[in-house]
Amino acid sequence: MRVTKETVVGIEYTLKDEKGNVLDSSSGHGPMEYLHGASNIIPGLEQGLEGLAAGDAKTVVVPPEHAYGEYSDKLIQRVPLDRFGENKVEVGMRFHADTNLGMRVLVIRHVDDKEAVLDGNHELAGKTLTFDVKVVSVRAAELTELAHGHPHQAGGCCGGNGGGCGCSEGEGSEGGCCSSEGSGGGCCSEEPAAQEKQGGCGSGGCGCSH
Ligand SMILES: [Zn+2]
Repeated sequence: MRVTKETVVGIEYTLKDEKGNVLDSSSGHGPMEYLHGASNIIPGLEQGLEGLAAGDAKTVVVPPEHAYGEYSDKLIQRVPLDRFGENKVEVGMRFHADTNLGMRVLVIRHVDDKEAVLDGNHELAGKTLTFDVKVVSVRAAELTELAHGHPHQAGGCCGGNGGGCGCSEGEGSEGGCCSSEGSGGGCCSEEPAAQEKQGGCGSGGCGCSH
C-alpha cells in the first residue's frame, strides 16, 4: 500500500533547519503516525510523502510557505501589563490565546515596566525545514479515524484507551488532539500543561512517552 489520502502512515523523522541543526526527531519515542490528507502534519511534508511505501526513505525540503509560514511583524503586539491581572509575566512564557487570526500560541519576547511584547509567530516561521523521513508503515484508515481526522492507536496519539479515542469534542481544527502545532509537526509536541488546559487529550493525556 502506498501513502495516499485516507491512509494512516507511520514515519520516523529527523527535522533540521538550514544550518543542519536538529530541531526535532522521532528517535526515542518511536514512529509518529498521522492520517494522510487530514492536515495532521505540515502541507509540504505531506506532499513529499505522497506515493511512498513502507520502507522508503526520503529527504523532504519544505520552504516556509509550505511549513509554518513567513515570519510576520503583524503577529507582534504590545500588551499593557495590567491586562495580565495577577498572572506572572516573564520572557519566554507561552500561552494559547484567541486572536483575530484564530487560536495561536503566543510567546512573551520582552517585558518592561508597562508592557509585554507578545509574538504570535510559530517558532519555526520563516524557516526552510529539512525532514529526513522514513516510512515505516502504511495502512488504510478506520472510519472513526477518518471521522475524527487523526489516527487511533494504543500508545500513539490519544492512545491507551483500548484503541479508542480519548479526545473531547470541539477540538481545534488542526487535526484535533496532539495536532500539528508544536515543533516539527510532531505528535504531542506542545507542552502538556497547555494541552490539558484545552481539554485536548482526555484521560491520561496524549499517551506520549515524553
Ligand atoms: Zn479521535
